[in-house]
Amino acid sequence: MTLCRLVYSSQGLPSLHYPDLMDIMEKSEKNNALVGLTGMLCFGDSMFLQVLEGDRQAVSNTYHRIVKDPRHCNFAIIECVEADQRLFGAWSMKTVQLGSYFPDRVKDIVIKYSPTSTFDPNRMNARQCLQFMLDLQALYKEMG
Ligand code: FAD
Repeated sequence: MTLCRLVYSSQGLPSLHYPDLMDIMEKSEKNNALVGLTGMLCFGDSMFLQVLEGDRQAVSNTYHRIVKDPRHCNFAIIECVEADQRLFGAWSMKTVQLGSYFPDRVKDIVIKYSPTSTFDPNRMNARQCLQFMLDLQALYKEMG
Protein backbone atom coordinates (compact mmCIF):
# COMPACT_ATOMS: atom_id res chain seq x y z
CA MET A 1 0.00 0.00 0.00
CA THR A 2 1.43 3.35 -1.08
CA LEU A 3 0.09 6.63 0.23
CA CYS A 4 -0.55 9.18 -2.47
CA ARG A 5 -2.25 12.54 -2.96
CA LEU A 6 -4.18 13.70 -6.01
CA VAL A 7 -5.38 17.26 -6.55
CA TYR A 8 -7.57 18.14 -9.51
CA SER A 9 -9.99 20.82 -10.65
CA SER A 10 -13.14 20.62 -12.72
CA GLN A 11 -16.04 22.80 -13.76
CA GLY A 12 -19.56 22.23 -12.50
CA LEU A 13 -22.27 22.19 -15.17
CA PRO A 14 -24.83 25.04 -15.04
CA SER A 15 -27.47 22.42 -14.16
CA LEU A 16 -25.61 21.58 -10.93
CA HIS A 17 -27.48 22.78 -7.84
CA TYR A 18 -27.33 22.53 -4.08
CA PRO A 19 -29.03 19.07 -3.89
CA ASP A 20 -26.28 17.72 -6.19
CA LEU A 21 -23.64 18.99 -3.79
CA MET A 22 -25.46 17.29 -0.92
CA ASP A 23 -25.63 14.06 -2.92
CA ILE A 24 -21.93 14.26 -3.79
CA MET A 25 -21.05 14.98 -0.16
CA GLU A 26 -23.04 12.02 1.17
CA LYS A 27 -21.72 9.55 -1.41
CA SER A 28 -18.15 10.76 -1.02
CA GLU A 29 -18.19 10.43 2.75
CA LYS A 30 -19.65 6.92 2.54
CA ASN A 31 -17.57 5.56 -0.36
CA ASN A 32 -14.29 7.14 0.72
CA ALA A 33 -14.57 5.86 4.28
CA LEU A 34 -14.98 2.32 2.90
CA VAL A 35 -11.64 2.50 1.05
CA GLY A 36 -9.69 4.67 3.52
CA LEU A 37 -9.65 7.87 1.47
CA THR A 38 -9.55 11.33 3.03
CA GLY A 39 -9.64 14.82 1.57
CA MET A 40 -11.51 17.98 0.79
CA LEU A 41 -13.82 19.15 -2.00
CA CYS A 42 -14.33 22.89 -2.58
CA PHE A 43 -16.95 24.40 -4.83
CA GLY A 44 -17.23 28.07 -5.79
CA ASP A 45 -17.70 30.25 -8.88
CA SER A 46 -18.76 27.07 -10.76
CA MET A 47 -15.38 25.43 -10.11
CA PHE A 48 -14.45 22.34 -8.09
CA LEU A 49 -11.09 21.79 -6.43
CA GLN A 50 -10.61 18.43 -4.74
CA VAL A 51 -7.80 16.68 -2.90
CA LEU A 52 -7.95 12.90 -2.51
CA GLU A 53 -5.41 11.09 -0.35
CA GLY A 54 -4.95 7.45 0.53
CA ASP A 55 -3.87 4.21 -1.08
CA ARG A 56 -2.72 4.88 -4.65
CA GLN A 57 -5.06 2.29 -6.17
CA ALA A 58 -8.05 3.58 -4.18
CA VAL A 59 -7.29 7.17 -5.20
CA SER A 60 -6.97 6.11 -8.82
CA ASN A 61 -10.21 4.07 -8.84
CA THR A 62 -12.13 6.90 -7.21
CA TYR A 63 -10.75 9.57 -9.55
CA HIS A 64 -11.70 7.50 -12.59
CA ARG A 65 -15.24 7.13 -11.22
CA ILE A 66 -15.47 10.87 -10.49
CA VAL A 67 -14.48 11.92 -14.03
CA LYS A 68 -17.34 9.83 -15.43
CA ASP A 69 -19.82 11.88 -13.39
CA PRO A 70 -21.92 13.96 -15.82
CA ARG A 71 -22.30 16.83 -13.33
CA HIS A 72 -18.89 18.30 -14.12
CA CYS A 73 -16.38 18.66 -16.97
CA ASN A 74 -13.03 20.25 -17.98
CA PHE A 75 -10.85 18.18 -15.63
CA ALA A 76 -7.28 19.21 -14.87
CA ILE A 77 -4.93 17.15 -12.74
CA ILE A 78 -3.00 19.66 -10.67
CA GLU A 79 -0.86 17.29 -8.64
CA CYS A 80 -0.48 13.53 -8.21
CA VAL A 81 2.34 12.64 -5.84
CA GLU A 82 3.49 10.08 -3.30
CA ALA A 83 2.75 11.45 0.16
CA ASP A 84 4.71 11.00 3.38
CA GLN A 85 1.63 11.71 5.45
CA ARG A 86 -2.03 12.59 5.14
CA LEU A 87 -2.83 16.29 5.35
CA PHE A 88 -6.63 15.95 5.60
CA GLY A 89 -6.80 12.82 7.75
CA ALA A 90 -9.75 13.97 9.84
CA TRP A 91 -12.22 13.93 6.96
CA SER A 92 -13.33 11.16 4.58
CA MET A 93 -14.38 14.12 2.40
CA LYS A 94 -15.02 17.59 3.71
CA THR A 95 -17.25 19.36 1.18
CA VAL A 96 -17.09 23.15 1.30
CA GLN A 97 -19.33 25.47 -0.68
CA LEU A 98 -17.23 28.62 -0.70
CA GLY A 99 -19.01 31.58 0.80
CA SER A 100 -21.68 29.56 2.63
CA TYR A 101 -19.89 29.85 5.94
CA PHE A 102 -17.48 32.54 7.16
CA PRO A 103 -17.67 34.37 3.75
CA ASP A 104 -15.26 37.17 4.69
CA ARG A 105 -12.60 34.79 6.00
CA VAL A 106 -12.99 32.53 2.95
CA LYS A 107 -12.72 35.55 0.62
CA ASP A 108 -9.45 36.47 2.34
CA ILE A 109 -8.11 32.98 1.66
CA VAL A 110 -9.21 33.10 -2.01
CA ILE A 111 -7.50 36.44 -2.59
CA LYS A 112 -4.38 35.29 -0.69
CA TYR A 113 -3.65 32.64 -3.33
CA SER A 114 -5.37 34.05 -6.45
CA PRO A 115 -4.76 36.93 -8.85
CA THR A 116 -8.40 38.04 -8.43
CA SER A 117 -11.18 37.47 -5.90
CA THR A 118 -12.78 34.91 -8.21
CA PHE A 119 -12.14 31.31 -7.21
CA ASP A 120 -10.41 29.71 -10.19
CA PRO A 121 -8.05 26.80 -9.47
CA ASN A 122 -6.84 26.99 -13.08
CA ARG A 123 -5.11 30.25 -12.17
CA MET A 124 -3.43 28.79 -9.07
CA ASN A 125 -0.34 26.59 -9.04
CA ALA A 126 -0.22 23.24 -7.23
CA ARG A 127 1.33 24.71 -4.06
CA GLN A 128 -1.29 27.46 -3.95
CA CYS A 129 -4.14 24.97 -4.45
CA LEU A 130 -2.90 22.76 -1.63
CA GLN A 131 -2.19 25.66 0.71
CA PHE A 132 -5.63 27.11 -0.10
CA MET A 133 -7.28 23.90 1.11
CA LEU A 134 -5.01 23.67 4.16
CA ASP A 135 -5.98 27.23 5.14
CA LEU A 136 -9.66 26.34 4.67
CA GLN A 137 -9.15 23.24 6.79
CA ALA A 138 -7.55 25.36 9.54
CA LEU A 139 -10.46 27.82 9.36
CA TYR A 140 -13.09 25.11 9.65
CA LYS A 141 -11.23 23.53 12.57
CA GLU A 142 -10.87 26.91 14.30
CA MET A 143 -14.57 27.71 13.85
CA GLY A 144 -15.61 24.23 14.97
P1 FAD B 1 -24.61 5.67 -7.71
O1 FAD B 1 -25.00 6.80 -6.83
O2 FAD B 1 -25.50 4.49 -7.82
O3 FAD B 1 -24.25 6.29 -9.11
C1 FAD B 1 -24.14 5.50 -10.28
C2 FAD B 1 -23.81 6.39 -11.47
O4 FAD B 1 -24.78 7.43 -11.64
C3 FAD B 1 -22.45 7.08 -11.32
O5 FAD B 1 -21.83 7.04 -12.57
C4 FAD B 1 -22.80 8.50 -10.98
O6 FAD B 1 -21.82 9.40 -11.44
C5 FAD B 1 -24.15 8.72 -11.63
N1 FAD B 1 -25.00 9.64 -10.85
C6 FAD B 1 -25.36 9.47 -9.57
N2 FAD B 1 -26.14 10.49 -9.17
C7 FAD B 1 -26.29 11.31 -10.24
C8 FAD B 1 -26.99 12.53 -10.47
N3 FAD B 1 -27.69 13.12 -9.51
N4 FAD B 1 -26.90 13.10 -11.69
C9 FAD B 1 -26.19 12.52 -12.65
N5 FAD B 1 -25.51 11.35 -12.52
C10 FAD B 1 -25.55 10.75 -11.32
N6 FAD B 1 -17.62 9.99 -5.13
C11 FAD B 1 -16.85 9.37 -4.23
O7 FAD B 1 -17.08 8.19 -3.94
N7 FAD B 1 -15.80 10.01 -3.64
C12 FAD B 1 -15.46 11.30 -3.93
O8 FAD B 1 -14.51 11.84 -3.34
C13 FAD B 1 -16.25 11.98 -4.89
N8 FAD B 1 -15.98 13.25 -5.25
C14 FAD B 1 -16.73 13.86 -6.22
C15 FAD B 1 -16.38 15.13 -6.63
C16 FAD B 1 -17.11 15.77 -7.63
C17 FAD B 1 -16.72 17.16 -8.07
C18 FAD B 1 -18.23 15.12 -8.22
C19 FAD B 1 -19.02 15.80 -9.29
C20 FAD B 1 -18.57 13.83 -7.81
C21 FAD B 1 -17.84 13.21 -6.81
N9 FAD B 1 -18.16 11.92 -6.38
C22 FAD B 1 -17.37 11.28 -5.47
C23 FAD B 1 -19.36 11.23 -6.87
C24 FAD B 1 -18.98 10.23 -7.95
O9 FAD B 1 -18.78 10.90 -9.17
C25 FAD B 1 -20.11 9.19 -8.12
O10 FAD B 1 -21.33 9.86 -8.36
C26 FAD B 1 -20.28 8.35 -6.88
O11 FAD B 1 -19.05 7.91 -6.38
C27 FAD B 1 -21.12 7.12 -7.26
O12 FAD B 1 -21.66 6.65 -6.07
P2 FAD B 1 -22.28 5.21 -6.02
O13 FAD B 1 -21.19 4.23 -6.14
O14 FAD B 1 -23.10 5.13 -4.78
O15 FAD B 1 -23.16 5.04 -7.31
